[in-house]
Amino acid sequence: MPAVIEVSCINCDMCVPECPNDAISMGTKHFQVDPQLCTECIGYYDKPTCIAVCPIDCIGLV
Ligand code: SF4
Ligand code: SF4
Repeated sequence: MPAVIEVSCINCDMCVPECPNDAISMGTKHFQVDPQLCTECIGYYDKPTCIAVCPIDCIGLV
């Protein structure tokens, strides 16, 4: 279940440096998660850290 960033992302950039796998990058309109790289932060954090830091809660797990 990789993290997915919704279209409501405001491109604040807060989640990008927090990802331990460098899975988040800018897409055509907003930031996006590479599902091949996202591991839900297992081994690094108790919870997905991108979800924890996003100020508008626009990241979910699918
Ligand atoms: S859940 Fe963790 S590994 Fe996946 S994109 Fe977010 S910060 Fe990166
Ligand atoms: S923290 Fe949330 S709003 Fe900011 S860039 Fe990441 S997904 Fe978008």
